[in-house]
Amino acid sequence: MEKAAYNSPTGPLMTPEEFVSESKRNQETGKKFAYCPMCDERVAPYGVHSTVVKSRFDHPDRAEGADPLDDCELSNRSGRLGGISIDDLDLAQGKRVRERFYEPDTLRLAYAFCHRMCGQGALPRAKFIEMLQRADKKKIWCYVDIELFVIPYILLTFENFTGRRKKDGMEFDFYFALIKPGAADFRTYWTRPEDCRIEKRFCRTHVPFNNDDNPYPVSEAALLAKVGNADWIKDSFLREIIRAA
Ligand SMILES: [Zn+2]
Repeated sequence: MEKAAYNSPTGPLMTPEEFVSESKRNQETGKKFAYCPMCDERVAPYGVHSTVVKSRFDHPDRAEGADPLDDCELSNRSGRLGGISIDDLDLAQGKRVRERFYEPDTLRLAYAFCHRMCGQGALPRAKFIEMLQRADKKKIWCYVDIELFVIPYILLTFENFTGRRKKDGMEFDFYFALIKPGAADFRTYWTRPEDCRIEKRFCRTHVPFNNDDNPYPVSEAALLAKVGNADWIKDSFLREIIRAA
């Protein structure tokens, strides 16, 4: 990570060099720490005086037993969204985007889309709530200028799912991967969605599903087409989600 927040997760962002000299300047008021503005964890400057490596901030190692899907997207661990950088965060906009997403009609579309993408029986409400909790943890609402239609696509990458084969009832695990042109920056998912896709893959082999509409386009029109009619999702169901998330 190229910058971190000084002295608190909401502190000013600094490079490792700036952090080291700033903490030295203020050392009489106690030891200062650097924080990741996405996960709020303490991070450590690395390679500040090195002529060999580019300096950076490192997250602590993943805690024993922790789910890799909870990894901070700004850590160099295995976050699903790869390619996001600290400059893709706008902490000030988060509250507003989250409120808009939780309006019943938007939330209904989001659940309906994820439900249809997963297939029958693969998205129980509890799992959707976990996806929303990860969205809070990963500060998805703060991704710069994010568009509402792309949020359900990103939510799908935050879990693994279990499906069941029609012919013999055998269970299999699957996940979704977002695909953008190789060198494109992270915001491409909503700035140039026509160049992006979401792909359904088997967990064990990472092989894509062999369906006509896989990978699936990323756009508001594609989302609406997949949803069709969402009237079957009752307001009471949405209220349960809002209460739990
Ligand atoms: Zn972090």
